[in-house]
Amino acid sequence: MSLTIGIDVGGTKVAAGVVNSRGRIVEKLKRSTPAASPEQTAQVIGDAVLELLGRHRAVAVGIGAAGFVDAVHSTILFAPNLAWRDEPLRQQVEEHVGLPVLVENDANAAAWAEANLGAARGHEHVMFIGVGTGIGAGIVINGQLYRGRWGIAGEPGHYRVVPDGRLCGCGNRGCWEQYASGSALVAEAREFARRSPGPAVRLLQLGGGVAEGINGPEVTQAAREGDAVALRCFEIVGGWLGQGLAALAAVLDPGCFVIGGGVSDAGDLLIGPAKAAFADAVTGGSHRQHAEIRLAQLGAYAGVIGAADLARRSFDQSIAPLSGPAPRDGPSPRRRTTTANPPTNAITASSAAQPGTVQPRNEVSSR
Ligand SMILES: [Zn+2]
Repeated sequence: MSLTIGIDVGGTKVAAGVVNSRGRIVEKLKRSTPAASPEQTAQVIGDAVLELLGRHRAVAVGIGAAGFVDAVHSTILFAPNLAWRDEPLRQQVEEHVGLPVLVENDANAAAWAEANLGAARGHEHVMFIGVGTGIGAGIVINGQLYRGRWGIAGEPGHYRVVPDGRLCGCGNRGCWEQYASGSALVAEAREFARRSPGPAVRLLQLGGGVAEGINGPEVTQAAREGDAVALRCFEIVGGWLGQGLAALAAVLDPGCFVIGGGVSDAGDLLIGPAKAAFADAVTGGSHRQHAEIRLAQLGAYAGVIGAADLARRSFDQSIAPLSGPAPRDGPSPRRRTTTANPPTNAITASSAAQPGTVQPRNEVSSR
C-alpha cells in the first residue's frame, strides 16, 4: 500500500501526516509556523517531510495552505492572513525533499477529505465551510473538486454581506467571515462585555476580568453552562452562518454542507442557529429539498488527509482513485509554470482584520 504525505499549513501550526490509500494517518507531527517568513515556512514544511521520510517510504507530498493557490497547484498567489504573495511553494519544497509536490488550498483539501472519507461520504455535491479565525471553503461538484478558472474558487468568506461593513484582512469591507467566523464570535462577546458588563459577568470571569481576555473557548464554555449572553453570541454568529449557507445554496444547490474548523467544536451551539437561519432564508422555503448541514467528522487533520489523497491521485498512477477521476486541472509531476498576478482588491497584509471597526447591526432576529 503506497503512502503519501499530507501537510496542512495554518497561521500558527504546520501539521504533517503520513497517510495510506484508505485515508488513515500512519504517523503525524506538528511544528510552529513562522508565519511572517514564507521562506522559513517552506523550510519547516520540508524538514517535517524529511523527518517523516526517515521512517516511511512515501511517493508524493500534498500541501494544503491557507491561501489562494494557482490553477496548476504550484504557487500561493495571495494569503489574506499570512505573508505569502506569489510564493512558489511547490518548487521550494520539491527541491528540498526530492518528491513531487502538489499545493492546494487548505479548505479545498479538507473539503475533498470530508466529501470522500468523512461527513459527506455518498454525496456528489458538497460544500465544506471551515469556520475558524476566518472562513475557508471548498466545493465538490459531481464528485470533483471545483477550482474555477484560476484555481481560487470557493472563497465565500470574502463574499460581501454588508456594504461598507467591517474591515477584512483581505482589504475589503463587509466580508462574510467578519460576521460568521470565530473572530466574529469573539468580537461579539467582547463587545457585549464592554457594553453590558452586568449580564456578561460570567464571560468576564472566564476572561480574567477583562473583555480582551475573552476568546473562543471562553464563549463556548459559558454557552455550555447556559449563559444567556454567550448563547446570544452563538445565535448571532450562527445566524450569519446560516444566512450565508442559504445564499450559497442559491448558487450551488449542494446536497450537503459540512461545517468544520475550530468553531465547529462548539457543535449544536453553532449548527443549531445556523440550521434555523438557513431554513428561514433559503429561497423556495418548503417547496424544495434542503441541503443537509452536518458537522465535519475528520477533525483537525482533514486538511492533511485531503492533501495527501489529492497528491496520491495526481502522482501515483498505480492506485485506483477512491471515487471519480483526479482533479481536472491536476499538474503533471514535473511541470513548471509561472503565473501572472491575479486580480484582487487586496491591499497589504498590514490591513489585518479589525473586528469591531464598523459595527452594522444587521443582526438576525432570534428564533
Ligand atoms: Zn475579505
